[in-house]
Amino acid sequence: MDLLNTLVDKGLRRETPTRAEALAVLATSDDDLLDVVAAAGKVRRHWFGRRVKLNYLVNLKSGLCPEDCSYCSQRLGSKADILKYTWLKPDQASQAAAAGLAGGAKRVCLVASGRGPTDRDVDRVSDTIRAIKDQNEDVEVCACLGLLSDGQAERLREAGADAYNHNLNTSESTYGDITTTHTYADRVDTVRKAHAAGLSACSGLIAGMGESDEDLVDVVFALRGLDPDSVPVNFLIPFEGTPLAKEWNLTPQRCLRILAMTRFVCPDVEVRIAGGREVHLRTMQPLALHLANSIFLGDYLTSEGQAGRADLEMIADAGFEVEGAGEVTLPEHRAGGGCGSHEGGGTCGPAVTESCGSAPEEPRTDLVAVRRRGAGTDLAPNA
Ligand code: SF4
Repeated sequence: MDLLNTLVDKGLRRETPTRAEALAVLATSDDDLLDVVAAAGKVRRHWFGRRVKLNYLVNLKSGLCPEDCSYCSQRLGSKADILKYTWLKPDQASQAAAAGLAGGAKRVCLVASGRGPTDRDVDRVSDTIRAIKDQNEDVEVCACLGLLSDGQAERLREAGADAYNHNLNTSESTYGDITTTHTYADRVDTVRKAHAAGLSACSGLIAGMGESDEDLVDVVFALRGLDPDSVPVNFLIPFEGTPLAKEWNLTPQRCLRILAMTRFVCPDVEVRIAGGREVHLRTMQPLALHLANSIFLGDYLTSEGQAGRADLEMIADAGFEVEGAGEVTLPEHRAGGGCGSHEGGGTCGPAVTESCGSAPEEPRTDLVAVRRRGAGTDLAPNA
């Protein structure tokens, strides 16, 4: 296909595709799917080889958020029966992080529910970062605490944070349909603050909230414009008890196309499969490793992932390798500079526009399990 040859050439040169090309990837048929994966896989291997970076989520504070993000099980008024707890102590968070690191993760993502941190919260998280780094010198720490006020990114950086995550989630034009308590511009502002403070910016999206192909292309192009180092791609987990509980719009094939499009638009960036991997890609997860170079190990913020051991086996069986602590994730031209998740591992409308013949499947609520182990519980974490 001429389209795919063009996109591979552009990806290897780090040239931005046109919007029409990105839309065309989302419109490819199931007959062309393996060709799409193979083409985007070439771009992935050029920049990241066969390495898969493992990230590990620690939910520092769960539930009871005053914001109303429709996709989120921790939102204001959520009836989802999730774990709810306030700030983990530094030693508790460090213990949770250690389980992930022992499982093979090289980045720990410290996430807290809420609109944004108070200065006291930044102090708490700073203590937690130090506690984790005292135990594990080489670990990368990413903080994900919501909207940042002036000076907070700098303080996190001083405490040893390597990265900051804040997702754009969806297109600017549909953002108001998803959340009313803050704006798309607020989110862009926080990504910029993280960048300006010298933190590696991590910002991504949530697919499956009823957005159109144009919305998906809009948000991925907006992300390219912000130049984050990592882009988490979440697939909505339609939690019972949230406004989007009925939005079962994704098929494994559509998830693969979305990941391929993201790879073509952000070729040299850490593309991470985030929340919803098991629920929506299901048996197609190994194919998605040809597109993304990063996943979360084990559980998500409020839902359970497949067993950490199954993640590792999947990577090995598909012919990939877990990226070691001594290996640099990003290509040389990006390393040390600034193209990562709030509820990133969690998830974020109207019915989705299916661009191919695949019909959305029946709701797979049987695949959604609320997290009942790890941080905030007395049970061992999944890692
Ligand atoms: S995504 Fe973050 S800010 Fe939005 S409701 Fe969930 S925890 Fe709150």
